[in-house]
Amino acid sequence: MFNKITEHVYIHPAEHYTDRPNIGLIFGEKHSLLFDAGNSADHVEKLKRELSEQGLPFPDFVLLSHWHWDHSFGAKFWNVPIISGRKTNEELEKVSEWKWDDFSMENRIKSGEDIIFCTEMIKREYPDRSKIEVVPADIVFEDKMVLDLGGISCELIHAKGPHSEDSVICFVPSEKFVFLGDANCKDLYGKPWEFDIEHEEDFLSNVAKIPYDKELVADFLKLLEKLDFTYCISGHSEIMTREELFESFSL
Ligand SMILES: [Zn+2]
Repeated sequence: MFNKITEHVYIHPAEHYTDRPNIGLIFGEKHSLLFDAGNSADHVEKLKRELSEQGLPFPDFVLLSHWHWDHSFGAKFWNVPIISGRKTNEELEKVSEWKWDDFSMENRIKSGEDIIFCTEMIKREYPDRSKIEVVPADIVFEDKMVLDLGGISCELIHAKGPHSEDSVICFVPSEKFVFLGDANCKDLYGKPWEFDIEHEEDFLSNVAKIPYDKELVADFLKLLEKLDFTYCISGHSEIMTREELFESFSL
């Protein structure tokens, strides 16, 4: 179910079993934007069903927060223009060439292109991996793009941050709300850490041990400081206040 956050913002909560992220819906008088595409056709189908059951507008555009599979693999199934930053799109073009048999997936873990955690979660989300179809975006921007939804504007900002170089956030000034995607999270691809599907209970504590890149955090905070927001949400956790977000980096 999409939960109402403000008059113009709803959020469908993350589902951790197959790493489905929070999905945001932002709508004005004319258009609506979905923040992140979901991780599969099944995920998208569930989101569409719930939108129609709740009488909420279907998205006219889908924004991808970054290239990671859990945020982008649903893109193909919305049948609306997909928006992304340039760096995200470059990564998606590479990933669209990837093969999904066990051997290819293992090789990408060895080469560092992919990580064990995502490989295990993809296997779980997709009982049939021949269904994976990665598509690049239709509308690509460089640093910033403003979308007027009709009385509600969304600022799409290439924010970088500590998680992934391509991360884009969506600031909705009238609602004083920011969708962060995973931009504020740890770098699961660039830093070593352990994941064992037999011990999923250790996931959070293992991720907590990964150090933040202090310079990337400092630049990210500088950008966030300029935005007038009260609440925000990250890709896989609960809504936070501005203060909680800022404090989270010192943990
Ligand atoms: Zn991510």
